[in-house]
Amino acid sequence: MYLVSIGLEVHAQLRTRSKMFCGCPVEFGAPPNSHTCPTCLGLPGGLPVMNAEALRLTVLTGLMLDCEIAPVSHFDRKNYFYPDMPKNYQITQYARPLCARGRVPLHDLAYPKDAQKTIAGSDKEIRLVRIHLEEDVARSFHLENSTGIDFNRAGTPLMEIVTEPEISSPEEAFAFLTALKQILIYGSVSSADMEKGQLRCDCNISVRRDGQSELGAKIEIKNMNSISGVRRALGYEVRRQTAALESGEKLEQETRGWDDNAGETFLMRTKEFAHDYRYFPDPDLVPVRTGVLVQEARARLPELPRAKRARFVKEYGVSAYDAGVLANDLELASYFETAAKGARRPKSVANWILNDLQSALAHDHRSIADCSVLPAALDELVNLVETGRISGTQAREVFAEMFASGKTAATIVQEKGIEQLSDGAALEKLCDEVIAANPKPVADFKAGNAASLNFLKGQVMKLSKGTANPTMVGEILLGKLQK
Ligand SMILES: [Zn+2]
Repeated sequence: MYLVSIGLEVHAQLRTRSKMFCGCPVEFGAPPNSHTCPTCLGLPGGLPVMNAEALRLTVLTGLMLDCEIAPVSHFDRKNYFYPDMPKNYQITQYARPLCARGRVPLHDLAYPKDAQKTIAGSDKEIRLVRIHLEEDVARSFHLENSTGIDFNRAGTPLMEIVTEPEISSPEEAFAFLTALKQILIYGSVSSADMEKGQLRCDCNISVRRDGQSELGAKIEIKNMNSISGVRRALGYEVRRQTAALESGEKLEQETRGWDDNAGETFLMRTKEFAHDYRYFPDPDLVPVRTGVLVQEARARLPELPRAKRARFVKEYGVSAYDAGVLANDLELASYFETAAKGARRPKSVANWILNDLQSALAHDHRSIADCSVLPAALDELVNLVETGRISGTQAREVFAEMFASGKTAATIVQEKGIEQLSDGAALEKLCDEVIAANPKPVADFKAGNAASLNFLKGQVMKLSKGTANPTMVGEILLGKLQK
């Protein structure tokens, strides 16, 4: 038996309008080097000025994740030479980070889909070591015979979130990143789009024999930029390291990269000596007292995913699973809530959203944000069904038309002359026809097979082309058969 210990260092770009220490705008996709100034280019004499919103967002993240906020924090210089950091140091926080400790709660739906059934104790929380704030570096592009550097990213406020090495599987690492990303989005702290590099992650992983108390050699995988990639890279490392230990090999501390196409990690460098970054407090920046920031951030604390899931179950009577799916996506959650507020049965609204609406959106590759059916319109449709004006089958037809044309349910019902058949005499006639045509199910029902009633009901619905009022059909059939 082998034990796996994984720790993650997550970098999240903050959602600010300007950079960490200068006024240059933060914008993804702008022409290279168009958002630069002497400060973020690292030119001599450029002086940094702190971005208050970046400090506030980091404190807000700390509050959302139950961290202790340092009463006084400061920035340090981390000295090293890299072409993407021409002033030869990065401004970061070493000795007194803004946030310490804290935790990220995991939940069932945060795990990869294929692993959700096998999770035991999904209430696990992953503890954090710290969250600190720093400036992002420039981006280098490797061209055919040269390397280009884009400084637009240099100086973007970047939060580093460091976990304890207590993640125990690649699937759990996936769940951690998914849950963390959700919380960052809930707090509008970061857009956390991994494709845009707004969320990046380094993974530390070590494998040891069960019973061995100290951790095995720490292997670091650098610069992961997708959650599924993290899972696969860690899975590969678990297999590689286990096989190495099995064959008696001694693992050494090293840094590896991930080749997504090959599905393999590769050696980048071994840690022959520890880096000494010569950290010292940045003399250009004063220490920060966090009192006011904490007050301001507290006023912006959102309802978090866990609380929202619980509230959806309690307030709207939806299942825990459905509440989880709805709360997974903040926009879907607010769509549901807007529609559910005026609904007779919020649970039906949830069903419509999770089934028909989501599959229609998926079919058209659209997101809930540009959905043609507004929450109030969906609510109206559900109420037409709940009040018996139209049947479930008719509602599906109306919904398809609503989705395609953007018209309201009432307009479509009127235009198409759709109405549920609730005329007692007409329904009796249909029921008589079905009873006459199905002697066997009728006999089965009389012999005690209750399920036959549903079959007969289905036949009446079919005969009426889905227009019959199903509640009335059930009552009439029962009355006739129990005679
Ligand atoms: Zn600048």
